[in-house]
Amino acid sequence: MKKCIWCSQDEQQASFNKLAHTIPQSLGGLNICKNVCDNCNSFFGSHYNKLPPIETVIKETFNISRARFLNTNDEIGKNKALPRFKSIYFNVDFKKRSIDLKPSYELKSGFQEKICRQLKRGIFKMFLEERERQMGDGHDSRYDFIREFARYDLGDFPIIYFERRHGAILMVKSWATNPEIFMSRGSQFKYINTDHSFFEFELLGHLFGVPCTRAWELNFENYIVESTKQKAGFFKSWRFIRNFNDIDLVLNILNDPKG
Ligand SMILES: [Zn+2]
Repeated sequence: MKKCIWCSQDEQQASFNKLAHTIPQSLGGLNICKNVCDNCNSFFGSHYNKLPPIETVIKETFNISRARFLNTNDEIGKNKALPRFKSIYFNVDFKKRSIDLKPSYELKSGFQEKICRQLKRGIFKMFLEERERQMGDGHDSRYDFIREFARYDLGDFPIIYFERRHGAILMVKSWATNPEIFMSRGSQFKYINTDHSFFEFELLGHLFGVPCTRAWELNFENYIVESTKQKAGFFKSWRFIRNFNDIDLVLNILNDPKG
């Protein structure tokens, strides 16, 4: 019996006919979370409260990194084609390595904050659906705050971004063509911390830390000290995401392999 991880309705109460991609298909995501009802699935792709759709924001921001990654072997600016990139919200210049909101959105008051909130909700959305798909524990009550924030727009929870020290990102091309979130903790990368209060995962060359408990502040200092110690050789700093520019979306780091 299917039961939606977002609204808790089961097959008798809701329909489950559409495929819910954990990472948007337009980003190359192939994985499906079975326990997402059609209603919640379409919610993430729709305008709500005049906010840009969560899925659109995720697609737009991570597509910048994806386009950049798929061109890693091209040396940008040296007679090689720059990645072609179309976006609703952003002007992206890979040559100048810059990303800005389009003027029409820049002028909308608070749009920057809105788009950042949607981006965070989208990262939580991908996390919980992948969590359910891979570990089967998405209904656990410890994740209720993720449901409230991502699905019902309640509260606010942090997402940490770790800034790399080197451009030599360990990544195979399939991770960019068909991106995944790696849930098995610490198996690939020595620098992934396995504290119980934050979950760290890599997506399209970015390393994020998301709280996996509502009371994340209780253990935060401990966690961040240990986590940054562990990452010392690979990452130079961390920050809370407060702006889309807090994430190195154009992957400037790739231009600077020696760091
Ligand atoms: Zn639902």
